[in-house]
Amino acid sequence: MAEFESNVSPRTIAVTAGRPLGDGDPVNEPIVLASNFRAGPEYARTHGTRTWAALEEAIGLLEGGRCLTYSSGMAVASAIVFALRPEIVVIPSVSYLGVRALLGDLSERQSLQTREVAIQNTLEVVAALDRAGHDATSGSDGVILWIETPTNPTLDIADLPRLCREAKSRGIRVVVDSTFATPIGAQPLRDGATVVMHSGTKFIGGHSDLLIGAAVTNDDTVYDALARARVVQGATPGALEAFLALRGLRTLPLRYEASARSAEQLAALLASHPHIESVRQAGPMLSFVVRGGAEAADRVCASTTVIVPATSLGGVESTMERRQKYPGDAHVAPGLIRMSVGIEAIDDLWNDLQCALASIGSR
Ligand SMILES: *Cc1c(COP(=O)(O)O)cnc(C)c1O
Repeated sequence: MAEFESNVSPRTIAVTAGRPLGDGDPVNEPIVLASNFRAGPEYARTHGTRTWAALEEAIGLLEGGRCLTYSSGMAVASAIVFALRPEIVVIPSVSYLGVRALLGDLSERQSLQTREVAIQNTLEVVAALDRAGHDATSGSDGVILWIETPTNPTLDIADLPRLCREAKSRGIRVVVDSTFATPIGAQPLRDGATVVMHSGTKFIGGHSDLLIGAAVTNDDTVYDALARARVVQGATPGALEAFLALRGLRTLPLRYEASARSAEQLAALLASHPHIESVRQAGPMLSFVVRGGAEAADRVCASTTVIVPATSLGGVESTMERRQKYPGDAHVAPGLIRMSVGIEAIDDLWNDLQCALASIGSR
């Protein structure tokens, strides 16, 4: 495994990590299509493959911990809950709907309880941690603070260093879903998080052509429990997906910087547009509310020619979608559009948005 000085830039790590180092080796770890290995106890589900290991090395170095990859972001979320066995999970009330569905199903089965908080309101979160520590039969050991920042789809921002400190001083473990921040925008383990998770399907893969997930921790006991979860739940990444995700990761820093720059410019332009009620921007993500509610926002989404109307995000191509139509996101503003800014030319994106917004008035 490659070792890096702590002063090596993420851009360099993304390019150099996870490469074979032997003379005559291929420059990239090949796609190992194997479940079985000759003359040994190795089996891919239990021991992994070199293709996964290369991706895990790269993500681990970027986040500052040890990484395990899984078949999807949701597989990671399931593995984390399985591994940490919480009694009470404190989660943002507005956050990725899949994770809330998972915790909701477990809560219906009485496996755990959830406590919803406004994650940007630090005092509210801290008060919820105190109550949860009091209510859990095993005290703070039974509590997890599940942070998502920026949140999907409203881009609320948590005070990560402060929340990690407050949780740690109470002996509460912290999980951070850092899918929107990516390893370039944040390194939550350095703030004291117990586990950071990614839907690698999004920015890490970066091309809307795969599903994969990653968990990173620097706690060896948690790592072992997460590895055990992958073995017994069987949620292993595919070989092609792991290869493509690492190929995507090589350009993540460049893509993230370019998309974030465009997103910032688009946010400023949208803010002064008469059809826009409010705009938020975090990294490559935009979340804006169109005046005229659901109908107007649907028209905008249906009228773009460059921006793809699509539900997922994090690709080189810009995508956008009105979110309130999903039952899991029913509590966001009806006219809220979440946009993932890609790497197209900013002028073309703005022209596209302007024309789409003009369609509101032209009926
Ligand atoms: C997409 C997403 C997930 C789930 O990831 P999958 O790869 O689709 O399973 C989890 N968290 C966030 C914030 C996401 O955007």
